[in-house]
Amino acid sequence: MKLPTFAHKQFTRVEKTCQHPGCGELFLGATHSKFCVFHSSQSNRIRLYKKPDPFKINQALIHLNAGRHELKCALKGCNNKFTIIKQYDAKVYPKFCEIHRNEHQRNMFLQNNILFTKKETV
Ligand SMILES: [Zn+2]
Ligand SMILES: [Zn+2]
Repeated sequence: MKLPTFAHKQFTRVEKTCQHPGCGELFLGATHSKFCVFHSSQSNRIRLYKKPDPFKINQALIHLNAGRHELKCALKGCNNKFTIIKQYDAKVYPKFCEIHRNEHQRNMFLQNNILFTKKETV
């Protein structure tokens, strides 16, 4: 008979306070536990903020006839144009040009714009 090579890890119990907003209950929990017994299940927790849907930010509803259309980038100060081929059924299309579909690129562009406008005014 072969014995198990490692013993099951036992968590040390520590007295902790619940980190749910509005609940400061003291409880005995493992070192990684964050919430009390009531708030440990996800249905009892209140979600304070929701992450915005990236598809809703990047895309727009376009009401145009079917065919090829040239659109302007929706970002302020960007004059790049891009073409879309509109189908009959589909309505959702990207609203930024190909470079600015990335969030990081958009932030960089806006930062540079702000710097330039400040320099011009001074
Ligand atoms: Zn709690
Ligand atoms: Zn753009």
